[in-house]
Amino acid sequence: MYKLMKLPYPYDALEPDISARTVNIHYNKHHKKYNDNLNKLIEVDIYPIEQIPQNIDKFSMDKRGDILYNAGGVLNHDLYWKSMSKIGTAPSGKLLKKINNTYGSYDNFKRIFIKKAKMLTGSGYTFLVANNSNLTIMNLPNQETPLSYGLIPLFTIDLWEHAYYLDYQNDRDKYIENFWNKADLTYASQIYENIS
Ligand code: MN
Repeated sequence: MYKLMKLPYPYDALEPDISARTVNIHYNKHHKKYNDNLNKLIEVDIYPIEQIPQNIDKFSMDKRGDILYNAGGVLNHDLYWKSMSKIGTAPSGKLLKKINNTYGSYDNFKRIFIKKAKMLTGSGYTFLVANNSNLTIMNLPNQETPLSYGLIPLFTIDLWEHAYYLDYQNDRDKYIENFWNKADLTYASQIYENIS
């Protein structure tokens, strides 16, 4: 059985930008539901979850859409929680160097990421992904994962209404801006260090 990732901080760690109530419901209801659904769909976990997208054709045809959706839901939420922390942290090492080369500066990278996130329509995510050693900022709908496109997800913001509605109601732009008070690129830096 796939186990739900442990939240890397207490529910109130992202206050005041994301409330403890939002984190609690988002993690214990939404994130957990994708994991529960995945376990119901897959009796034997023959693949580590991050290998499901590239092996989706090994599953029975009638379950593929549901398995991919729920595996993506788990993976995207795992990454979302790892993309934030109480104090927030800028990128380091090779990732910082690559961000500076690609976007001019970390501040400019943030501006481009925010602009991209504000453009997403419907439910989905904005990701920073590694395409080999190159960086791309991309939007994907619903629970699609960059892994389905052969890309390595490094960092993400969840743009589903459940991520912000209790705190911001319809003001998604404000959530996207305040997210950056908690954005943490430590995990992204670690992943990138090993693939570049
Ligand atoms: Mn979510």
